[in-house]
Amino acid sequence: MFSRKLAKSMRERLRAERRENQLIEARAKEEISFIYVVNPPEIPRIAFGSGLERVTLPMSGPSLTPFMRKIQGEVREFPGPHEYNTTKDLIKKNASKYGNAPFVSKLPRLAQTATSAYPPVGTYHVHPPKKLKQAARPFNVGALQKPVEKFTTTGPANYAIDRQSPNMKICSAFGSKRIIWPAVAIICSPVNNAKCSKCSSTPIGDYYHQFKLNLDLCRSCMKKQLRILKRCTTDLYYRARMRNELNQYQRVRYCGFFHDHQGTTAAIQLMSKSTLKYKIRTENYLYTYHKL
Ligand SMILES: [Zn+2]
Ligand SMILES: [Zn+2]
Repeated sequence: MFSRKLAKSMRERLRAERRENQLIEARAKEEISFIYVVNPPEIPRIAFGSGLERVTLPMSGPSLTPFMRKIQGEVREFPGPHEYNTTKDLIKKNASKYGNAPFVSKLPRLAQTATSAYPPVGTYHVHPPKKLKQAARPFNVGALQKPVEKFTTTGPANYAIDRQSPNMKICSAFGSKRIIWPAVAIICSPVNNAKCSKCSSTPIGDYYHQFKLNLDLCRSCMKKQLRILKRCTTDLYYRARMRNELNQYQRVRYCGFFHDHQGTTAAIQLMSKSTLKYKIRTENYLYTYHKL
């Protein structure tokens, strides 16, 4: 563009100027007293003929594009109110630096704004929650999980610690020998000779026996006796006598449940010794909580 050919009129003008200069120079050489003055050339207008001063990052003016105006933000020559770094509170506690007069109200000038304990309207999520996508089954096995077994053991707070725990009947010979007296005595004989003294029947299972007078009492008869004892119409004297009599009865059992005599003194074991021991130990413990 700079090697553009000049117009004909321009060329002629430049040629005339040159000729005029040559004439001035020739005349100056003839007249020595002439002071030759050369005017500095005019600075040409650069880039599309614009004479505007161009800054690298303009803040305003026609050079500012809409994009630049959008991203440059606010242009100020002074700092804004939020840009001050105030170390002291601007609200004075005391109006005077000498302090307050007596009985002056020291309440804050502005009441504190009440803050609500509940979130405002716009903060609630009104959209229904999205349904979660079910996770893939591990190893592609759709077997159900084993349900957790219910813990049935009594909790620590359920025990009545204020009550004294019942003790087992222990036979101790001056501390040298300790035998736990069985809760249910076992009567071992070739034939079961037990016969209820009230109903004259052979008792089934456990029954009551009085060792002093060798009397038997079946469970149903014992229940009847206890019912009479608890009856309101029963005389106090009769009740006391009856209680004494019933207290002498003990729980007994025929030995047929663990061995078979078959009418002889010898017996065939039906139950292992360890099972029998376990049964007796369990009964001894449980009968401590059983009251007649
Ligand atoms: Zn026996
Ligand atoms: Zn009976």
